[in-house]
Amino acid sequence: MYQGTVYLVGAGPGDPELLTVKAARVLETADVVLHDALVGDDVVDRYADATEHIDVGKDPNGERTTQEEINRLMVRKAREGNDVVRLKGGDPTVFGRGGEEVEHLAREGIPFEVVPGVTSAIAAPEVAGIPVTHREHASSLTVVTGHEDPTKDESAIDWSALADCVVAGGTLVVLMGVGRMADNARALREHGVPAETPAAVVEQATCDEEFTVTGTVGTIAERSGEVGVEPPAATVFGDVVGVRDQVVDCLEGATAARAGPWNATASDKGSE
Ligand code: SAH
Repeated sequence: MYQGTVYLVGAGPGDPELLTVKAARVLETADVVLHDALVGDDVVDRYADATEHIDVGKDPNGERTTQEEINRLMVRKAREGNDVVRLKGGDPTVFGRGGEEVEHLAREGIPFEVVPGVTSAIAAPEVAGIPVTHREHASSLTVVTGHEDPTKDESAIDWSALADCVVAGGTLVVLMGVGRMADNARALREHGVPAETPAAVVEQATCDEEFTVTGTVGTIAERSGEVGVEPPAATVFGDVVGVRDQVVDCLEGATAARAGPWNATASDKGSE
């Protein structure tokens, strides 16, 4: 019997046009698409219409499908002879559990291929006018999950090391950090990052609802709270954030066709 292949595919940060050509091709030909909550319906509807779709972000009872269930489903569908696309937001291996899934597929002897995607860690700052590296401002980029409690002793994240990166002029991008933004910014300050270091939050980057809040390490959490920033959003700390001020007027013109207050400041969102 035909053994299907599993394609672990990155859907990009939201705008369907940021799907790669290869991702679009495998989506068109796949028999089954398993997608996450973060992948927009327009991506799935536009490219994957003749297939079985399974939203593994939520099960029929509204519960999140467990990783074990997703692993089993991928294997079962492939063994039944289906080519399976496992579609994830951004890039599949940037906080996407892609690594765990390919380990599982390899253990089960299922052929797989990875199709990289445009990660929000880079795209979100970039579309808001913040280049993640810049010859004059930043020659390193660190991407971290902001999800963990930085005050807990067993935190896997070394905020002292991250602070050193920022102090040395590097760029720090925090994903999944909306809920703990104040704690994380405080941890950076406690480990030596000056309060006036520029910071920005980009919510729903590349989508119609895109929105950017700028501030500093000292103010960003409060400003974001004031305007009600919600996930998904990427937070950027570092001198590169200052580049936005230099380019934003022209960037606004270049992206005016996209609806939404993408370029608004904190006060603008409040007045919507
Ligand atoms: N694999 C994904 C990241 C998954 S973790 C990637 O490569 O982009 C989920 C986090 O990604 C969110 O909490 C948010 O921090 C970030 N994120 C995803 N899409 C985003 C978007 N359109 N705008 C801003 N941040 C986004």
